[in-house]
Amino acid sequence: MAMDLGISGRRALVTASSKGLGLGCARALAAAGCDLVMNARGADALERAAEAIRDEFGVSVETVACDVTTGDGQARILDIAADPDILVTNAGGPPPGRWSDWTRDDFIRALDANMLAPIALMKGCLPAMIDRGWGRVVNITSQSVKAPIPALGLSNSARAGLTGYVAGTSRQVAPHGVTINNLLPGIHDTDRAASLDKGVMDAEGIDRDEARARRQATIPARRYGSPDDFGAVCAFVCSVHAGFMVGQNVLLDGGATNATI
Ligand code: NAP
Repeated sequence: MAMDLGISGRRALVTASSKGLGLGCARALAAAGCDLVMNARGADALERAAEAIRDEFGVSVETVACDVTTGDGQARILDIAADPDILVTNAGGPPPGRWSDWTRDDFIRALDANMLAPIALMKGCLPAMIDRGWGRVVNITSQSVKAPIPALGLSNSARAGLTGYVAGTSRQVAPHGVTINNLLPGIHDTDRAASLDKGVMDAEGIDRDEARARRQATIPARRYGSPDDFGAVCAFVCSVHAGFMVGQNVLLDGGATNATI
């Protein structure tokens, strides 16, 4: 029998959720009985994902097709989500590159996507959670928060900023029954992982299987994570059982980052 997460009937907003890790979180929350608001830019994939969740789990799913990195997109999402009990923030990750190539505009884009968008969503959702005396926020960040990856300097910089904000804010809202935590994915099998595989293929002049084998060899679990692995932990952190978990960075990376001590 599945563990009862105690959140059936709660309303959850999951941004950037038509594919990959966001979709994994949306599916796991739906399996726990949450009604959803889902978002992505591409309306077709978003509608397909929402319909599949309605069919499989029988929960209500509303969709908002827009760019979560813009103020206008955030306003539309917050309007439709109307004070959710659970907020999972996500957006696409910045492209890899080299320190000498990144311009101010590249940094501003990365900050908008991976720092300021989650902060705006939290600012929009936290007041009602506090009034209600219950809320859950999970931010999807990256293993690079614990062990920065040189080629992902734009991501490293933006996510470090978000992590600093969460460290303080999570402790300010905890007295009201609201928790904020970050999930730090290592390599998971999504389109994003495929594009990072491609980077290794091009840099090393090897084929996809070899690139994947080399990347898997760096992971003690010897496999990529799946969106379902990731979603299950997200749903647990959003559950009634995780109310004492506050301001944590939870690594989900198959052991790749040895930050245990
Ligand atoms: P993914 O498979 O490429 O999926 C990204 C999802 O986000 C899609 O549904 C996409 O739909 C949506 N999206 C992207 N940009 C958006 C925007 N501006 N506004 C609204 N929706 C947007 O990516 P993923 O692998 O799940 O990665 C999710 C996050 O985890 C990223 O920030 C990534 O950097 C981070 N991460 C991933 C891994 C990994 O191995 N997969 C590892 C570490 C960190 P549309 O394109 O239609 O908008």
